Amino acid sequence: MKLVFATHNKNKLKEVKALMPSNIELLSLTDIGCFEEIPETANTIEGNALIKANFVKNNYGYSCFADDTGLEVASLNNEPGVYSARYAGPENNAEANMSKLLNNLENKNSRKARFKTAISLIMNSEEKLFLGICEGEITPDKRGGSGFGYDPIFQPNGSKTTFAEMTLEQKSAIGHRGKAVRLLIDFLS
Ligand code: IMP
Repeated sequence: MKLVFATHNKNKLKEVKALMPSNIELLSLTDIGCFEEIPETANTIEGNALIKANFVKNNYGYSCFADDTGLEVASLNNEPGVYSARYAGPENNAEANMSKLLNNLENKNSRKARFKTAISLIMNSEEKLFLGICEGEITPDKRGGSGFGYDPIFQPNGSKTTFAEMTLEQKSAIGHRGKAVRLLIDFLS
């Protein structure tokens, strides 16, 4: 079965492909020739995931799922949240986003944070939502060289390493996207 994952992000595609059953042929936006910018205009991650999945279904006809992730920091009123990609500006620069977050946390007592992933699936005109949450904290410094985004400053509860110090398999086993994707896969199988 062909199923589109509405992303161009190679890191994400790799994470999700590793968890998909072999009977599902996972296609990316690049694979189906979708290079338009899909507007992410909702003010929740659930809303943005649904917009992206609908866009692919309506314009390309494929069954599709789309994800949207936000990092919620408790002492910053759950910022950056739905604005995680562009926290420090429209360029979606991971280094600038992390620096801004570390600065904003300098005088805060709590560094509690969580990643939340929403996956919206549109298949046979049916809509499903899957949520994955990973609780943790923001480290004082950046550590590790793998992953992407805020991985070097996010340490999940119960772990001594940041996401960026883990292998892809370790991150997927406990991470927000892995949890949401496993719910999706349970549903598909
Ligand atoms: P998206 O909705 O998945 O594109 O995520 C929005 C932003 O959140 C990304 O641009 C990253 O900055 C951040 N982000 C999403 N997932 C992760 C992750 O697994 N690790 C670190 N940062 C992430």
